[in-house]
Amino acid sequence: MSVDGKTKVCGLIGNPVAHTLSPLIHNTLAKKTGHNSIYVPFQVESGEVQNAVRGAYALQVLGLNVTVPHKSAVLGSLVEIDELADKIGAVNTLVRVNGGYKGYNTDMTGLHRALLSEKIRIKDEEILLLGAGGAARAVAFMCAYYGAKRVYLLNRTIEKAEAVAREVNEALQTECIVPMKLEDYQKLPQKQFLAIQGTSVGLYPNSQEAVISDTEFYKRIHTGYDLIYKPAKTQFMKLVEEAGGKAYNGLKMLLYQGIDAYELWNQTKVTDETANEIYELLQEEMKINE
Ligand code: NAP
Repeated sequence: MSVDGKTKVCGLIGNPVAHTLSPLIHNTLAKKTGHNSIYVPFQVESGEVQNAVRGAYALQVLGLNVTVPHKSAVLGSLVEIDELADKIGAVNTLVRVNGGYKGYNTDMTGLHRALLSEKIRIKDEEILLLGAGGAARAVAFMCAYYGAKRVYLLNRTIEKAEAVAREVNEALQTECIVPMKLEDYQKLPQKQFLAIQGTSVGLYPNSQEAVISDTEFYKRIHTGYDLIYKPAKTQFMKLVEEAGGKAYNGLKMLLYQGIDAYELWNQTKVTDETANEIYELLQEEMKINE
């Protein structure tokens, strides 16, 4: 990669940023699509988000990704916001426009694209969503937005599940999100579900844990999608597979949230072939760091 006077800069603001895989995604995309751009992670302390965004604009930065813990704080630094990102109330991608940045949520569109690439349908589906944190909230919006029939939102803290359900149902004028206490999973209808695992349980190094350990629960799941991608095969995925279902990790979600951002910044379309090549690189990188 060569940097010259015309190189466009994109980056990531968050804290910490040391272990991010986003530079691998974006710098490989730039190489493969022939764009003269570079992607750099920037560690930004809480309280400095506004300064960072202003400084980025002054430095002609083309776009930024935003990660934990700044996804909500950054809202106050935008000059425009995409309608859906506004409803979700969280932004992970900033696109340079006149006078500042416009905010988007490519976590949500990226997950939808990742599911489509595995031929997993959302429309008219009955879905179990485990968790009600920041990521699960975006997933709940995604499911409602793309026409899920019903989403049972199970969370340890029922109040959080209720709050997310209320917000999503109100924002999208639906009643499809149904909040439930995690421990009440036995009261679910006797059906087969797509289950999306959106809690942080099972994340490396706690790789042996699953948010529900009862093997009976997993017999209800035809497809399990874990947002976690480290470890590559989570305990949740193992339990789904042992009960006869198909299981996927969240690496493609990470890939496609990056590709969606790249496409917005560079007004381009990344081919499936390039997406697959980068997916392979990400998988290799995960193996190296195991
Ligand atoms: P978060 O806001 O901290 O939410 C954590 C969620 O996990 C909450 O619902 C919490 O329940 C639940 N939880 C935590 N410990 C639990 C326990 N012992 N038993 C039951 N439930 C428990 O985190 P987040 O930002 O939403 O992230 C969640 C996961 O998604 C993380 O593992 C992250 O790595 C992954 N993620 C992946 C991608 C991707 O690109 N693939 C993107 C974003 C996030 P309570 O509400 O009861 O505390």
